[in-house]
Amino acid sequence: MRDFLDWPFFDASHRDLAERLEHWCQANLTDDEPSDLDSACRDLVRGLGDGGWLRHCVPDEAGRLDVRGLALIRETLARHSGLADFAFAMQGLGSGTISLFGSEAQKADYLPAVARGDKIAAFALTEPESGSDVASMDMTAEQDGDSWVLNGAKTYISNGGIADYYILFARTGEAPGAKGISAFIVDRDTEGLDDSERIEVIAPHPLATLRFADARLPASALLGERGRGFAQAMATLDVFRTTVGAAALGFARRALDEATRRALTRRLGAGTLADNAVTQSKLAEMVLDVETSALLIYRAAWLRDVKGLRNSREAALAKLHATDSAQSVIDKAVQMFGGLGVTRGVPVERLYREIRALRIYEGASEVQKMVIARAHLAEYRT
Ligand SMILES: Cc1cc2nc3c(=O)[nH]c(=O)nc-3n(C[C@H](O)[C@H](O)[C@H](O)COP(=O)(O)OP(=O)(O)OC[C@H]3O[C@@H](n4cnc5c(N)ncnc54)[C@H](O)[C@@H]3O)c2cc1C
Repeated sequence: MRDFLDWPFFDASHRDLAERLEHWCQANLTDDEPSDLDSACRDLVRGLGDGGWLRHCVPDEAGRLDVRGLALIRETLARHSGLADFAFAMQGLGSGTISLFGSEAQKADYLPAVARGDKIAAFALTEPESGSDVASMDMTAEQDGDSWVLNGAKTYISNGGIADYYILFARTGEAPGAKGISAFIVDRDTEGLDDSERIEVIAPHPLATLRFADARLPASALLGERGRGFAQAMATLDVFRTTVGAAALGFARRALDEATRRALTRRLGAGTLADNAVTQSKLAEMVLDVETSALLIYRAAWLRDVKGLRNSREAALAKLHATDSAQSVIDKAVQMFGGLGVTRGVPVERLYREIRALRIYEGASEVQKMVIARAHLAEYRT
């Protein structure tokens, strides 16, 4: 099952990383659903920081983010605990725009704290009236002397309510649509920010609506160039989209593992479920989905890390296929478990709830299809 680490996409450091993390996960993670979600997430961020894993969320000494490392970490964490993967992923997504576009002072203020697990990060793009259509956002940031004044709302913000700061995108008026948006760093204790309204989803994660009423930020909160926020958000998502596929792959591998063990032990007639041809056909389809997802994910990551190429098409292929096919793998696993598969708290039941949102956030499957088709058609049109 871990033969994929020998693929040419990886080097020795990746194999070492995956082995060390596997041991750490076995010693440190459980996949029980916590009674206090917020403190469980805080503890996970702290534990991942102490373990040295969050260092991979921020650029190395050479200024690089290693997408293969990020993907391997997410795949491994997701196989052990959806919440641990979530805690890790948000430290990356919630600091990525600073890593890519921040000033030296912003990098120094935030990135080491994110890597240690001292600051919890969040990324606030979605609004009540603009989700997939990011360019139509309404939230405003108006310049007033030396400050920016924020008004509006963001919703479905992961880590909302527990984050120490939010990377926030708001309309600054340079132009209508995508060209009039800028990025800001908003500390949680900013007056005029209310992040107390929580949202409950099928697989529990800290999630909130943020409301801003004349919230005032210093000029230094502007992140990167004014009016470039849309492009910055897309560039950040481009790095992390492949890793959403990797998390889905981790969930799918866990489901395949659970289902295989169950099939080998569950009695059916004179043998076991695994002796049955219909079950074997299901298992073969699950293996195919897992392997094709892994190939697409690590190809996309390798293209970016090693070839230095913009990989929007390949990242879209990886996210689309890995998330959609993980849903199918997990559904088959639930079916193979029978009644036990829909029993609250059983691993495949949790995975069934856990996978669903991945087909919606960071670009819904339909949006990924548009990216792929556009890139494909462009090759014919030129
Ligand atoms: C668990 C969870 C965590 C999240 N975390 C964050 C976060 O940390 N930060 C953040 O900013 N946002 C976050 N989101 C929000 C997420 O990014 C949005 O839900 C997503 O972008 C979709 O937007 P929407 O919900 O408004 O759906 P809509 O934009 O209303 O889309 C609804 C559906 O329409 C379809 N659709 C959309 N566009 C197209 C198209 N072009 N062609 C065809 N069909 C289309 C898709 O099926 C889509 O699911 C999170 C969401 C969830 C569920």
